[in-house]
Amino acid sequence: MQMEIERRQDEAEARIRAVIMKELCEAMHATNLPPLAVLRLAARSIGSIYREMADAHLGFDRCVCGWQPHAADVELLCMALMTACTQRRTTDLRLMRVEGSA
Ligand SMILES: [Zn+2]
Repeated sequence: MQMEIERRQDEAEARIRAVIMKELCEAMHATNLPPLAVLRLAARSIGSIYREMADAHLGFDRCVCGWQPHAADVELLCMALMTACTQRRTTDLRLMRVEGSA
């Protein structure tokens, strides 16, 4: 069960990564902005998407899925970003698996 969850997470990450990479490359090409500038825009986008998702789970008319945003969420997101920035990917197996099943 745990392996199945990890497999689904890996697959979701690979798909999201592929879409973001494609959009970043297109944005750099279209705007001539340097890599760090478009990466910063992507990071801001993730932050604003978090805010929107969190707001949809607060208040009277909130989503009923049960997730509750927490003050520590932002720290978790920052940690994920910092960790990923400093770790080189050791394998492209995850990407190959997604491409193979497309
Ligand atoms: Zn929800």
